Amino acid sequence: MLIVMTPDATEADIRRVTETIESIGYKAHAMPGASRTAIGITGNDGPVDPSPFQELHGVLECVRVTKPYKLVGRDLKHDKSVIRAGAAEIGGVEPAMIAGVCAVESHEQTMLTAEVVAAAGCKWFRGGAFKPRTSPYAFQGLAEEGLKILAEVRDTYGLRIVTEAVDEPSLDLVERYADVIQIGTRNAQNFQLLKRAGQARKPVLLKRGMSSTLEEFLLAAEYVMSEGNYEVILCERGIRTFSSHTRFTPDLSVIPAVHSLSHLPIIYDPSHSTGKRDMVVAMARAAVAAGADGLLVDIHPYPERALCDGPQALLFDMFRELVDEMRGINEVIKRHRA
Ligand code: PEP
Ligand code: MN
Repeated sequence: MLIVMTPDATEADIRRVTETIESIGYKAHAMPGASRTAIGITGNDGPVDPSPFQELHGVLECVRVTKPYKLVGRDLKHDKSVIRAGAAEIGGVEPAMIAGVCAVESHEQTMLTAEVVAAAGCKWFRGGAFKPRTSPYAFQGLAEEGLKILAEVRDTYGLRIVTEAVDEPSLDLVERYADVIQIGTRNAQNFQLLKRAGQARKPVLLKRGMSSTLEEFLLAAEYVMSEGNYEVILCERGIRTFSSHTRFTPDLSVIPAVHSLSHLPIIYDPSHSTGKRDMVVAMARAAVAAGADGLLVDIHPYPERALCDGPQALLFDMFRELVDEMRGINEVIKRHRA
C-alpha cells in the first residue's frame, strides 16, 4: 500500500500519517516528490486495511501496490531521484562520470589518476580498497590503507569517493571514509549485506548481479531502501550469456527499462562489462545515448603493470576524449528536456 498526499499536505499531515502507520506496527517511508509526497508502507504480512488512513487530513488516496517492489517503483515516486554528495550529483541533467582505478594499488598510482579525473572536470572518483577477486591468490586490495589514500584524493582534488564494501566489517570502514558505498555484482544478492547498506547514512551504488533479472536487480535495491536508505544508484555491469567476445554481455536495454519502472538513477560500467579496452569507449557512448545517468570507468597510468583488470583500463588520453564525447552525446539527445 502507498498513501498519496495532496499537494498542499503539511509536514504535520505527513507526520500524522507516518505515526498512524507505525502505531499499527508497520514501517513508513515518506518520499517527497516535486508535486506531492507519497508514503510507502512495508512490514505488513498481508493486505493493508486503508481505513485508518483514508480520513486523515491531507490524504488524497490509498493505492494498493501490485508489484513485488514498493519503494523503488515509479508508483511511489514519479520524479527521478537525484543522489548528491556536495556539488556532485547522479541522476541530474548531466550524466555523471565516475572514473578512477579498479584497485587502489599505491599512493602514486591513485594520485596520478585522480589528477587526470579532476582536470577533466569530473566530480567523482572510484577505486577499490577491498577487491572481490575470483582467485584467492590475486591482489585483494589495500583495505583501510587504501581508504586513507582515497580520503586524501577527496581532500586534495575535491573529488567524491565511490568504493566497494565486500562484507559488513568493510562496510563499516567504507561508510566512514567514502561518499558512496559500492556493492559489487558478487554481493548483489547478499541480502544481509544489502540490509546493512540500508542502515548506512551514505548513498549506495548497487551493481546488477551478473545473473540477475531486472526484477531481481530492483528487489536488491528494495532491500537497501526497505531499511530506510533511499539513496540508491543502480549500475548495469554486464550479465552472463553464451557470448564470449566480451567478459560479460552489456545489457543496455536495462537502462530504459529501469527508467520506466523506477525513479532511481542507473549508470553503466563499460569497463567490467566488456573487459576490453578497445570496446569500452564504444559501449560507453551507446549507454549515454540510451539515457544512462552516468558511467563508471576504469583508467590507469600504466595498465600493463596494473594489479587488477589492466586490460580494460583506459589510457588517460582515451579517457579525456570519452569525457568530451559524453558531454556531446548528452547535448544531442537532450536528456534534460526529455
Ligand atoms: C569493480 O567495480 O571494481 C568491480 C569489482 O565490479 P563488479 O562488481 O561489477 O565486478
Ligand atoms: Mn575491476
